Amino acid sequence: MKKWMFGLVAGAMLVTAGCGSSGGNKGGGTAEGGTTPQIGVAIYKFDDTFMTGVRNAMTAAAEGKAKLDVVDSQNAQPTQNEKVDLFISKKYSAMAINPVDRTAAGVIIDKAKAANIPVVFLNREPVAEDMNKWDKVYYVGAKAEESGTISGQLIVDYWNAHPEADKNGDGVLQYVMLKGEPGHQDAELRTKFSVQAIEDAGIKVEALAVDTAMWDRVKGQEKMQAFLASHGDKIEAVLANNDDMALGAVEALKAAGYFQGDKYVPVVGVDATAPAVQALQDGTMLGTVLNDAKNQGAATVALSTVLANGETPTKENTGYDITDGKYVWIAYKKITKDNVADAQ
Ligand code: BGC
Ligand code: CA
Repeated sequence: MKKWMFGLVAGAMLVTAGCGSSGGNKGGGTAEGGTTPQIGVAIYKFDDTFMTGVRNAMTAAAEGKAKLDVVDSQNAQPTQNEKVDLFISKKYSAMAINPVDRTAAGVIIDKAKAANIPVVFLNREPVAEDMNKWDKVYYVGAKAEESGTISGQLIVDYWNAHPEADKNGDGVLQYVMLKGEPGHQDAELRTKFSVQAIEDAGIKVEALAVDTAMWDRVKGQEKMQAFLASHGDKIEAVLANNDDMALGAVEALKAAGYFQGDKYVPVVGVDATAPAVQALQDGTMLGTVLNDAKNQGAATVALSTVLANGETPTKENTGYDITDGKYVWIAYKKITKDNVADAQ
């Protein structure tokens, strides 16, 4: 992805947004003569495969309902805070924020509350204490534990069906783990619950190596190369917190001669991105977990639009169940080569 291209797109969107609202008017005109609310959207960084899917889903869902001003926080919290200040100065009617640092949500909530602009967080869950700061704060995401459990179960299914999976025959599953960004709820909980699901199935485990590859494909490949250099054929499973890192691991494994003849190791990820689905079909990834970008994007836009219109989100006006008055949880789903259609 070229950053300058996003700059141009974002710039063009700002110009469009500017045309639609004059004299501090919060909305542009619509064919029906009503107003289209303007919503400021800050993504933690544009160069993230999964969040690009969510971003595209948001743009599609907003059509005819709201005008989105979508900006790149470039993986820097200070940059994101400046974007939020800008949204506030433009008097947007709501904000949708994918925090860079989820523990920094409190600062954003304080700003939003002072300006009385409702805020919907997505994908990076603020801590409960921050979520409770104001009643016009919402979160759209998925239960990280659930994705961890499902990815562990994918390995369990394979282990139970393939006695040869225990390469050294010691009855213990030796695995390596590629973690996402430390502190991200999805990295911490997927790591914990995937291993727990394997243990809960009565399988003994041994971690040969656990390291972060920051959700990144190239880093995933580099870390997997290092794991192979130290542990080689002792590795009996590769668990990755997302598909990009799993695909990086697959590259390293291919270079080491895996997926040819009967040289194989099961690799699992999370997200069900298009290239991961392709890898399932190619047989290089064993399974993944659908992280539903489409519904996360659509729910974020639905909540933001309702809030921008001065209403309180409900199942009736958003189409999504609201838990504890502020959370929308989108379900995960197990994906293997047998049900790839569910991910497409
Ligand atoms: C996704 C990752 C993504 C991260 C960004 C996670 O839910 O699984 O692929 O990089 O969110 O915050
Ligand atoms: Ca073993």
